[in-house]
Amino acid sequence: MSSEKLQIKPTPRDAMRIAVVGAGFAGIGMGIQLKAAGYRNFTIYEKSQSLGGTWRDNTYPGCACDVASHLYSFSFEKNSAWPNVFSKSKDILQYLICCAEKYKIIPHVKFEKEITELRYNEETLEWTLNTASNEEEIFDVIINGTGPLNKPFVPTIDGISQFKGEMFHSSEWQHDSDLKGKTVACIGTGASAIQFIPEIVDKVKKLNVFQRTPTWLVPRMDRSYSTITKKLFKYIPGINWIYRTFLYWRNEYYGMAIMGYPFFNAILQKASLFYLRVKVKDPSLRQKLTPEYQIGCKRINISDDYYSALQNPHSELITIPIESVTKNGVITSDGKEYPCDTIIFGTGFKTQEFLQPMKIYGCDGVELTESWGEKAKSFMGISISGFPNYFLLLGPNTGLGHNSVVFMIESQIKYVIETLNFMSSKNIKAVDVKEEHQEEFYLSSQKKLKRLSWGTGCSSWYLSKNGENFTIWPGFSTSYWWKTLNFPVSKYLLHKVGKISQ
Ligand code: NAP
Repeated sequence: MSSEKLQIKPTPRDAMRIAVVGAGFAGIGMGIQLKAAGYRNFTIYEKSQSLGGTWRDNTYPGCACDVASHLYSFSFEKNSAWPNVFSKSKDILQYLICCAEKYKIIPHVKFEKEITELRYNEETLEWTLNTASNEEEIFDVIINGTGPLNKPFVPTIDGISQFKGEMFHSSEWQHDSDLKGKTVACIGTGASAIQFIPEIVDKVKKLNVFQRTPTWLVPRMDRSYSTITKKLFKYIPGINWIYRTFLYWRNEYYGMAIMGYPFFNAILQKASLFYLRVKVKDPSLRQKLTPEYQIGCKRINISDDYYSALQNPHSELITIPIESVTKNGVITSDGKEYPCDTIIFGTGFKTQEFLQPMKIYGCDGVELTESWGEKAKSFMGISISGFPNYFLLLGPNTGLGHNSVVFMIESQIKYVIETLNFMSSKNIKAVDVKEEHQEEFYLSSQKKLKRLSWGTGCSSWYLSKNGENFTIWPGFSTSYWWKTLNFPVSKYLLHKVGKISQ
């Protein structure tokens, strides 16, 4: 053993002060794994009164996940009791609450604590955290677990403030609003809208669906699990794991089509067109629903009942662009007015502002969102150069169009734990990814993404204003897992108090 090694005293894991931002899937999973690895000195800051993130916020009728639940769940906490292949939001929320309770994470959560500022001190190598309720605390490590889909986007439409009726966004569903017998305008036809439209269509008097761009759609083929199946999952050892593994590799295989490998992509596009032809007999409606861009470029919609809902006698699909809103309803650019009692916005989220309004100041007082501008550069969507010991879960370029993001979250959690273990064993106070490796990751990701479906020329929330994609991981999730398996020490600057080593 070298004399240098003998001098290094490991930092006790409990001495590391860790703040986790957000108590959704990422924050809860991070808390569980921190505890398991012996890092017990952590606090999870949650701005709401309860945990669950997106699955707490989205309560609109029909809200469910597009990834099968046996896969959209933690690998270390398999659940035999999922009621459906694609479970509803309330079941996913319940699962998360059970995980937090079982692993005793709730005592670590500070609820109703919105973080307003994080500031790195280059002298002490510590982060100062400030909350909206004026608390200030010092931490060694910050782990951001807030996803990109939590700030509702409502478009600015001329005259919208004059509207006399009720208006709300899908993620802020007004459950006390009785839609029975009402004329309802639904703006947007993305993943959320195609779930709530079939749920409300039979209640309302008239449903006007305003579509800006048609989306590719494939059947969901959802079904509930029988009691016997649930018992098999519960009592036969390994069956849960086998099924989960099957779902994972099936999705990776579908990924070839979604990412744009020509042969598989063409088959998927044909299958989607075939499904449209089978479900929609009216050629003019079919025409309106047929996308002109390559399948996979925008997120693919998955539904068993959306096309039927649109063919309900009191539904109408309107494809003329919206011009304005009056006190009585929506006006399209051909001058036609569509009177309505309620407007529901299924118009998505402000995904480009995902860390705001938090202010995050790294080295030299640089603010993260300002320094990003249009380019959310990071290393593996986890580390950002100049922001030592600040880690992102589901950061830039780690979203998926074809598989479970919980798999990505778990890969990132493991990477963060590996990093902390390295720091603790080598007595390193802070790690900062080298800028050249961040740049390399940025250039290679953009190059790959341009060659895949996402670069084939549609507009989507995946793209920033300058057309670059800082949302999607450019490949299979297996490759992300492989690339994040170990902490790549040579790619980081290592800081001890008063000392930096390369
Ligand atoms: P979204 O997919 O971004 O869809 C927004 C819709 O609103 C699109 O149809 C968009 O049209 C339309 N729109 C936006 N601005 C408009 C405007 N000014 N005028 C008219 N139409 C406008 O939003 P989302 O449905 O809320 O879903 C967001 C993301 O959440 C999804 O992509 C997915 O990742 C996630 N999600 C997942 C699930 C699930 O797992 N089942 C469910 C819900 C949401 P254009 O296409 O023309 O832009």
